[in-house]
Amino acid sequence: MIHFVGAGPGAPDLITLRGAKLLGEAGMIIYAGSLVNKELLSMAKPGCAIYDSASMTLDEVVEKFREAEESGVDTVRLHTGDPSVYGAIREQMDRLEALGIEYDVTPGVSSFCAAAAAARVEYTLPGVSQTVIITRMEGRTPVPEKEKIRSLASHRASMVMFLSSGMVRELCAELVAGGYAPETKAAMVYKASWPEQRVIRSNLAELPAEAEKSGIRNTALIMVGDFLGDEYELSKLYDKHFSHGFRKASE
Ligand code: SAH
Repeated sequence: MIHFVGAGPGAPDLITLRGAKLLGEAGMIIYAGSLVNKELLSMAKPGCAIYDSASMTLDEVVEKFREAEESGVDTVRLHTGDPSVYGAIREQMDRLEALGIEYDVTPGVSSFCAAAAAARVEYTLPGVSQTVIITRMEGRTPVPEKEKIRSLASHRASMVMFLSSGMVRELCAELVAGGYAPETKAAMVYKASWPEQRVIRSNLAELPAEAEKSGIRNTALIMVGDFLGDEYELSKLYDKHFSHGFRKASE
């Protein structure tokens, strides 16, 4: 059995209880070494075989899965954050399907959640935006034309950009070209939940210079939207004049 497990954003105690249990029981762990906190590997049992997938190809990873399965070893494939977000797990799952090897997936705390926690913000503020767009700048992985930053920006929803912290200047220019005012609040969150965590608060006009000054080139998310500001409406859920399934409105 292969268990895909979300490692969480960095802090070792942000893995789920289920993920930690699976890590402790595994006979083999293949972890994404570039971003997974190595402290998590101390949960492995003695004798567990541990491989860093950073230097491996898909074929090599699948070969390890196959070997483990043949010898009846339980494997954890540890991905940073939540595996469903830029995790490249689909291609691994499809190979396992083809080989008839059983697998399951344990979710994790994605870095976009940890970044919101670090910045102490709420993406879905009433009266501001009820939508979060998770996207990235185009890199070596192409982004479909209909999803270019410029066209997504036209919604002026809350946006979080992964894998783009080396291209902040181009990113902010695209966001402005797409419809956000240059004064729109923007932030960069580096290594959310790690001891080195940093939150840089700025706006679209000034974030590129701030980002360059900081020297941060990777392991950061960029957020933009009016949710980073101070204007919003109170929620209906906790409004005393509003009834719902669990509470009657008071007079
Ligand atoms: N599956 C992961 C994302 C993997 S893609 C998740 O759910 O978070 C890798 C990108 O995620 C990095 O380039 C960076 O943009 C972001 N990232 C991962 N961990 C981060 C962290 N702790 N703080 C800020 N950004 C992070």
